[in-house]
Amino acid sequence: MPIYEFKCKSCDNEFEMICSANDDAGDIACPRCGERKVEKIMSLFSSSCGSCGSSGSCSAPASSPFT
Ligand SMILES: [Zn+2]
Repeated sequence: MPIYEFKCKSCDNEFEMICSANDDAGDIACPRCGERKVEKIMSLFSSSCGSCGSSGSCSAPASSPFT
């Protein structure tokens, strides 16, 4: 399932949520302030490294000389 990024218009909190394409941003509540004034940022995958540990695409290989 795709991961969507949302930004809360109330507190400027940016967060990610896994939801179906049918979900409307109006149904998503900000986890910080609980407001539903969020806008969807179309992004299939997060650019952060928080959730890509399994893929390893953004971590140095074990044989890296830089470690
Ligand atoms: Zn908020």
